[in-house]
Amino acid sequence: MALELSIGDVVRMKKLHPCGSSLWEVTRLGADIGIVCQQCRRYVMLPRTYLERRVREVLPRDHSDNETLSSSGSEGVSESVSD
Ligand SMILES: [Zn+2]
Repeated sequence: MALELSIGDVVRMKKLHPCGSSLWEVTRLGADIGIVCQQCRRYVMLPRTYLERRVREVLPRDHSDNETLSSSGSEGVSESVSD
């Protein structure tokens, strides 16, 4: 099963980084995936197959934007969430 990743996604790894964080942000895609530790900012490149076996879950970035490639002036319609 292929792991679907996009730049900006955050992945939770099964093992903690020595710094104590398990969250990494995807910054580069290709045969090797570049990820940055969300806590210590350590950057590593891992082969996709290696990463697939070590990722517990993918936390997609806010999907309110960036769904399409249309770059025609998107108005920031901000929904205010109120209780
Ligand atoms: Zn770290």
